[in-house]
Amino acid sequence: MNYDVLIVGGRPSGATLAARLGARQKKVLVLEKAIFPSLPNVPSSPAVHPGAMELLDEIGIPESAYASDHARMRHVRFNVAGLFSTVMRTPTLAAGRDYTYGVDRAVFDTACWHNLDRFPTVEKRQGFTVTDLVKEGQQVVGIVGNSNDGPSETIKARAVIGADGRFSFVARKCGAPVIEEQDTCTSTVYYADWAGVRPVCDEGPATFVYTTVRGLDVLFFAMPNGLYSVNTHQRSDRVDIGGKPENYYLNTLKSIPEVWRYLEKAERTTPLSGIKRIGNGYRQPSGPGWALVGDALHYKDPVDGQGIYDALLETKLLDQALSLWLSGARTWDDAMKAYRDDVWAATQPMFKTTVGRLKRELYDEPPWPVVRTLIRWTVTDPIYQETFLRILGRDLPPGRLTSKRLMAGCIQRGIARDALSLFKNTR
Ligand SMILES: Cc1cc2nc3c(=O)[nH]c(=O)nc-3n(C[C@H](O)[C@H](O)[C@H](O)COP(=O)(O)OP(=O)(O)OC[C@H]3O[C@@H](n4cnc5c(N)ncnc54)[C@H](O)[C@@H]3O)c2cc1C
Repeated sequence: MNYDVLIVGGRPSGATLAARLGARQKKVLVLEKAIFPSLPNVPSSPAVHPGAMELLDEIGIPESAYASDHARMRHVRFNVAGLFSTVMRTPTLAAGRDYTYGVDRAVFDTACWHNLDRFPTVEKRQGFTVTDLVKEGQQVVGIVGNSNDGPSETIKARAVIGADGRFSFVARKCGAPVIEEQDTCTSTVYYADWAGVRPVCDEGPATFVYTTVRGLDVLFFAMPNGLYSVNTHQRSDRVDIGGKPENYYLNTLKSIPEVWRYLEKAERTTPLSGIKRIGNGYRQPSGPGWALVGDALHYKDPVDGQGIYDALLETKLLDQALSLWLSGARTWDDAMKAYRDDVWAATQPMFKTTVGRLKRELYDEPPWPVVRTLIRWTVTDPIYQETFLRILGRDLPPGRLTSKRLMAGCIQRGIARDALSLFKNTR
């Protein structure tokens, strides 16, 4: 075997797994078909939470390598169907950070890739496409691939890792089945960057979420250089693109006056990107000689912006499992069982929360009196807001958001606030 571990895919999950293994002096090869700097081929919007930044700190990728002050968002402004609006302040989360970044994925992914230069036992090749896996019986022992139309090469390793995204080639070649899937509620997302957007929040660069409560959200994220990434997020069965995504995107934004007012004097600076019917699920994490990580293993709706955090967390867990196996302390089967259990425990509660939010925000369509009372009391409640943002930052167990105690408190405080304002208005 030429390598301990061969990794297919060199973006957040592949590059960070290689860095962790490189820090342990393992012999690693990372193969990536794209050439950096470049955007991922599967569209992705830009939000990166403090939990993800802390995991990047651990492998020596500083904020300055991927983030920009213009895109440091300390606030989230929610506008619910034009009925009410509220500004949430991000609490202090992992490693003392009280902000989220909107990142340029080309810059972010390139920073992860170049970080590998620090590890002498890690080799990397970009512009290299893996076209097949080498097997001995059921055991995966290597890959076949080629560099930019060059000759076909066979490269062997003790383990092959698919860090190759939600449409994973490695998963398909290994026949990794989907072991959990939520496909009744899915969204379709389109987005582009805009220059000259009117400030969405008095407090500075921010995330702005407008929800119609009728199957459509629009999300703005501050980006480097004063840009905003503007995303439409709609329940898939309501999306009628008619072969013209550009028209669909613009007409959707124009259909909401409270959204369009921020954009009418702005200019789009990037081509439109989008993805239809975004899947939510898990694949079988491993088999003989192979394992999956990042979106190849676990993919979900972007509404909570958890993809990069999960990818970085899974690579941390896979690094631990692989190093125990490589050192001989565990068999492959035992190491992979621990990996499967750890990933499930670390990601499944948030996954359930995300698919729950997707259903509530895009599919449930509560009656307007409920929006004006229960939902307003909840979304504007300071304790609910802090809990929500801590959960997004993976600082609290996700189940807290729907706890009976929190809900009862929101209702009590909401009624008290309404009574007080009624009293003030009638004086
Ligand atoms: C619409 C949308 C919006 C999103 N927004 C956010 C967000 O705001 N915040 C967030 O945290 N996450 C977001 N995500 C999720 C995030 O993009 C992913 O979780 C993250 O990119 C996963 O990283 P990865 O390294 O696992 O896979 P990827 O980033 O998909 O990288 C896989 C790599 O594998 C390479 N590859 C594939 N096949 C081969 C092959 N045969 N040979 C060689 N190389 C190969 C590809 O070229 C690619 O570079 C969003 C996702 C979507 C769909």
